[in-house]
Amino acid sequence: MNLALDIAGIPVSPDHYIGGQRVASSESFEIFSPIDMKPLGRIAQGLHAHVDAAIQAAQRAFPAWAALSAQERHTHLMRFAAEIERRADALCIVESNDAGVLHSRMRHGVAPRAVQNIAFFAEHALTLQDQRIETEQATHFVRHDPAGVVAIITPWNAPLMLTTWKLGPALAAGNTVVVKPPEWAPLTCSLLADAAHAAGLPPGVLNVVQGTGAVTGQRLVSDPRLARISFTGSVPTARAIAQAAGANLVPVSLELGGKSPFIVLADADLDNASRTAALMYRNAGQVCLAGTRLLVHERVAGDFTQRLREQVQQLNIGDPRHDATEIGPIIHPRQMNRIQGFVDRAIAAGATCLWGGQRHAFGPLYYQPTLLTNVKQDSEVVQNEVFGPVLTLQTFASDDEAITLANGTDYGLGGICYGETAHATAVAERVHTGFIWVNSFGIRDLAAPFGGCKRSGIGREGGDWSFEFFCDVKDVVVPK
Ligand code: NAD
Repeated sequence: MNLALDIAGIPVSPDHYIGGQRVASSESFEIFSPIDMKPLGRIAQGLHAHVDAAIQAAQRAFPAWAALSAQERHTHLMRFAAEIERRADALCIVESNDAGVLHSRMRHGVAPRAVQNIAFFAEHALTLQDQRIETEQATHFVRHDPAGVVAIITPWNAPLMLTTWKLGPALAAGNTVVVKPPEWAPLTCSLLADAAHAAGLPPGVLNVVQGTGAVTGQRLVSDPRLARISFTGSVPTARAIAQAAGANLVPVSLELGGKSPFIVLADADLDNASRTAALMYRNAGQVCLAGTRLLVHERVAGDFTQRLREQVQQLNIGDPRHDATEIGPIIHPRQMNRIQGFVDRAIAAGATCLWGGQRHAFGPLYYQPTLLTNVKQDSEVVQNEVFGPVLTLQTFASDDEAITLANGTDYGLGGICYGETAHATAVAERVHTGFIWVNSFGIRDLAAPFGGCKRSGIGREGGDWSFEFFCDVKDVVVPK
């Protein structure tokens, strides 16, 4: 066992958590804070033996965990949720330092949501076994049986939120889990293991194997003993995972990137629309569901852009640990170079940069909120996810043209549409995405489906949809 890292006074184990115990590794890698690029310490690299031990521990724990009633698992998971809540301050501080996520967002959004993610699905599982179908011939008792050992793999931009969003239903359904946290922001998953331990979750029910995607992640998803793989991350990684899972015929759930349209119709309330558009820069644009393609009716484009400019000028860029900050750092120099590359190539290809376009003086990993216009629909910056504070703006002259532009990428995660409500709703219904907000942004409910169309993913999470994935649905037919 290695000494805990000290993250602003909070001890965080750098080791794996396997079978209810901390397990060290002979190999490790360094992590740093994107706030100032100062090293935070070294994290265990998950080797073949660790992945193997974690899957074995999960397999050993499975029969007893699966045999518990939903009510008994509910009791365990409510204790787990309470332990997460008890650690809320620590989780917020650690993720802010580790991933550069705004502390205010952690405090008011992510931390309460992490608790809810566990509690909601524990509660929801209680209703699952009630389903039955009556016919003249028979009663069909529809059972949601646990599937087995589940692998959960999450990205760095929202590790606490996304890991609990998957853990809640996976565990409530009676599965046991191996989590592989993101290597650029692995620390809150380690604290989740502490919470599980303190809550008395039986050893092996929840295991955490730290490590890089290429080594640990690839090893994990290639294992034929898995019953499910739940992944959130990028399209290229999803392809690698789907290939590995395909070889073993393991079902996968894929929540991937987005290039969501933000449509502003001519009858939109431009103040509201521009205020919401400025939110797309939050978390430095490192948000999968952000509406990064502004599609604005040509009649109001000038007016909208002026209002957005005023909003952007007021944005506070700086240290994510301070409550007033609205835009924090980019996660990693590699990501920073990628963003700058997109912007430079777009400008070289004829785009106009209305604001931003370069690094921000606050620190090495800060980037200015950027808006590019005069971009072609088939250009790289319109077609690909930048995952930084970079928006594009295109104009349209009719609803049909707006829809064509909105649907004209390979992505289909989300969308936003501002306009007179009935008009905006009618346009929203024609956009090919997994969800779309009308005159709003970010309203989520744990019971509602979440997921993407086209290259933005396979499957839906949330409410019953999570259980459809994490369970083996079985029809027990009893004749009358
Ligand atoms: P990524 O795909 O690089 O990595 C995600 C996770 O996969 C990490 O834990 C990584 O270690 C692991 N990984 C990498 N290669 C692997 C392999 N071969 N086998 C198994 N695991 C592997 O993504 P990222 O850069 O961490 O995150 C950003 C991406 O996530 C963006 O595309 C963003 O849109 C997407 N995202 C989507 C949602 C959603 O709900 N749809 C939410 C947040 C982020």
